Amino acid sequence: MNKKKQRVKQIAREHIDVLVEHALHEKDDHLASIQARQAKMIAMHQRIRLPYEIRQLYCKRCKAFIIPGRSARVRVGRAKTRALRITCLKCGYTYRKLLVWNKDL
Ligand SMILES: [Zn+2]
Repeated sequence: MNKKKQRVKQIAREHIDVLVEHALHEKDDHLASIQARQAKMIAMHQRIRLPYEIRQLYCKRCKAFIIPGRSARVRVGRAKTRALRITCLKCGYTYRKLLVWNKDL
């Protein structure tokens, strides 16, 4: 890969970060989902694999952008394997996440 392409990808990654950051703090759900969709589009165009923390934010089933505590219900399981149960409030799909990626929860 040449330098220019690397640079373009780098900028795209920063752009994605900014968009996701904004989407997470956006009070308007509609705007948030637009920003999230843009982030995903950029990733697809540049063939960038979204980092794990960002991939978390898209529902596995309906692909909607889900904000923990707002458009998703997050529950911490009490079992030994600490897992999060994330329920997408848009389609009702629940999936489990092992608690390794975010230690300060
Ligand atoms: Zn969903």
